[in-house]
Amino acid sequence: MSNQVSEGSPPPLKIKGRMEIEYTWSLGRLGTRFFEAIRTERRLLGIRCPSCRGVLVPPLPTCGRCFAPMSEWVDLPDTGMATSIVPYLLEYPGQALKPPIIFAKIRLDGADSSFTHILGDIPPGPLPQTLRVRARWRAERIGSIEDIVCFVPGSTC
Ligand SMILES: [Zn+2]
Repeated sequence: MSNQVSEGSPPPLKIKGRMEIEYTWSLGRLGTRFFEAIRTERRLLGIRCPSCRGVLVPPLPTCGRCFAPMSEWVDLPDTGMATSIVPYLLEYPGQALKPPIIFAKIRLDGADSSFTHILGDIPPGPLPQTLRVRARWRAERIGSIEDIVCFVPGSTC
């Protein structure tokens, strides 16, 4: 008898399981200030590079363009431009939101970077390539990017 795996061997057995993992993730100094401003003041902050003057949202400790340490906080409006607008249609167990969901990259006015979020109030039909949007805030905030329910068409609150 051989211990070699060969053609014709039965497929390996599989066991189904379920894993839940609880974890805590530190937001760090910059993330803490960014999310505290969202939670306590419903305010969005960017951080400006002292070298190239680029503004990043969410904040990062180092500029992605010139690698300078970031230092200057700037207030940003909750309006901007949605780009890379794509629908998400697949359902899977445990999903927080039921499809269809429309994702987009959001570049706040005055920012030089963008972040992914959800679009709301989009009428059925072909999706635009770009769209002026504003944030729709939750009434009760916890200090999370989900304190913004979604971004909706328009530029006034
Ligand atoms: Zn820079």
